[in-house]
Amino acid sequence: MTEIRDWLNGQGIKNTRGKPMDYGSIQRILNNRRYIGEYTFRGTVSPEGIPALVTRELFDRVQARMAKNRKAPARYKAEEEYLLTTKLFCGYCGAYLCGESGVSHTGKVHRYYKCVSVKKKRTECHKKSVRKDWIEDLVVSETMKMVMDDQVIEAIVSMLMDLQDRENANLPLYEQQLREVDRAIENLLNAIQQGILTKSTKARLEELEANKEDLETRIACEKLAKPRISAEFITFWLQRFRKLDVRQESHRKMLIDTFINAIFLYDDKVVLTFNYKEGTKTITFDDLKTALAEEKISSDLDCQAAPKTALHSV
Ligand SMILES: [Zn+2]
Repeated sequence: MTEIRDWLNGQGIKNTRGKPMDYGSIQRILNNRRYIGEYTFRGTVSPEGIPALVTRELFDRVQARMAKNRKAPARYKAEEEYLLTTKLFCGYCGAYLCGESGVSHTGKVHRYYKCVSVKKKRTECHKKSVRKDWIEDLVVSETMKMVMDDQVIEAIVSMLMDLQDRENANLPLYEQQLREVDRAIENLLNAIQQGILTKSTKARLEELEANKEDLETRIACEKLAKPRISAEFITFWLQRFRKLDVRQESHRKMLIDTFINAIFLYDDKVVLTFNYKEGTKTITFDDLKTALAEEKISSDLDCQAAPKTALHSV
């Protein structure tokens, strides 16, 4: 439609108001059923009310094509997911980095993350945009390194166990009360053995027995409502992440969603915070370059400036 518009304007053709043709005028022409001879007057449609200028078949093909184009951007968007959206922040101004894509002069689509402040020209932020693949690869590989580290896994397990205990505050309380009741019963039984048995000791014993039964029921209910997950099971569950294939989009997403809390990106370094206590890691890009140079792998770690023309943002 853009091409048709440009062609018409090139021919010097104006719309009914004498203005140059715009996107809307083309759309109205293509949608206009009068061209197939349909005439509508006060809500009554006469299929052959006026002479047709285009065939019904051509008109239908045009409608089908326009409907397809309308859906196209949505399909295109869904294809490419920006995995770090909502987790990636600008280290300088604290704003989110959002996904954007642009087409270079060679027609290649480039995807990148851009600071929202820069995009909206809100503040004096000058954070450079970064390539989507580059930052996502970096985050995924750092997360994988963390998952492979036994000490980190241990730390996460103990944190999750603590969390479980705190969430289920009633259970330890009932268990302690039960221990106290048991001790009291034992003391009383000892007293009875030593021949101290009065009416009140018997009543007290019955009271304690009832108390014990009540606590045991409560404990059973708590355990039933929230079964405690063992440390072994959590370890097993965490270690399964080691088998993920980092080249697969869904696996990459799983790693990021599970372990990454936030990422603060600067032009010379990145600070990753993971979803567990003390889970912060700072990586400077100089370190990365050195490490890569040592491995004799050609580096493309430079934060390349993103193409200027934006197609859409996510
Ligand atoms: Zn910024």
